[in-house]
Amino acid sequence: MKVALLSGGVGGARFACGLVSAVDPAGVTVIGNVGDDLEVLGLAVSPDLDSILYALAGLHDEERGWGRAGETWEALGTVSALGGEDWFRLGDRDLGLHLVRSQALRAGEPLSAVTARLAGALGIEAAILPATDDRLRTWIETPAGSFPFQEWFVARGHRDEVDGVRFDGDARPAPGVLEALAAADAILIAPSNPYVSIWPILAVEGVREALAARTVPCLAVSPLVGGRAVKGPADRMLARIAGGTEPGHVASCYEGLIDALVVDESDPAGELTVRRIVTQTLMTDLAASRRLAEIVLEAAA
Ligand code: GDP
Ligand code: CA
Repeated sequence: MKVALLSGGVGGARFACGLVSAVDPAGVTVIGNVGDDLEVLGLAVSPDLDSILYALAGLHDEERGWGRAGETWEALGTVSALGGEDWFRLGDRDLGLHLVRSQALRAGEPLSAVTARLAGALGIEAAILPATDDRLRTWIETPAGSFPFQEWFVARGHRDEVDGVRFDGDARPAPGVLEALAAADAILIAPSNPYVSIWPILAVEGVREALAARTVPCLAVSPLVGGRAVKGPADRMLARIAGGTEPGHVASCYEGLIDALVVDESDPAGELTVRRIVTQTLMTDLAASRRLAEIVLEAAA
């Protein structure tokens, strides 16, 4: 079975782990968000791709939800002591990956090629593709002004309410993205933040159109459990931008693009324009992620 998964960082990575344990990983293509990417200390950082890489390689820090397990922070300590740029936390182990990627990008290798190389070196069987090799950046519109994603998320601790999001850059799909969508037996949207993890992928030329014109089922998993985000600002954003945190509000983010929404048992029933699949969606461990992936795949069959 061939599956294409649109994914952000933490929620997406958790679901991707379940997915590759439920089907042959060789048939899975994860299309990752790059709207959060940034340059820190001269290094190219792709937080969502890295969450996916680390999770699929079993190197991720389960508790923190991002970065690597067993991480240390000596280099960042030196950066701070020297008055360097230390607002974005990069661990020692994590830094090694950023060094390799930054060098490759500087030498002219496209992000998709570097990512494939890193995934291969980490023993990952699934294909991991950035949505685009071009520069695409998410901007957050707030009452306090417009901020690049990481400035709002990390530096300002996502305290500002979000009025809207905007994607800067004319991004063409990375090689393999449209091909994976066309070849898929099912297209899945991970339980990621719709606005800042999935919409930037949909903003890439041809991706939204490919989903709208799909000939196979497309299912999204809601990132809310009981109307609340498991982590992060998705619930606050939905309340303010879509007008609520019920399944219908989540589905409205993907209007015309999905056939079904997978929601948690604790979420309210109520009108939904697409098919509703109700199950436990909290991915507390790999077994739970796998069970969720199995239910989603069954519904897509
Ligand atoms: P980010 O890029 O690291 O912010 O990650 P994503 O956008 O992929 O994931 C963030 C979303 O994942 C948040 O809105 C969470 O509510 C959601 N999430 C995290 N863990 C779970 C879970 O176990 N179940 C569900 N349904 N959603 C989850
Ligand atoms: Ca992200």
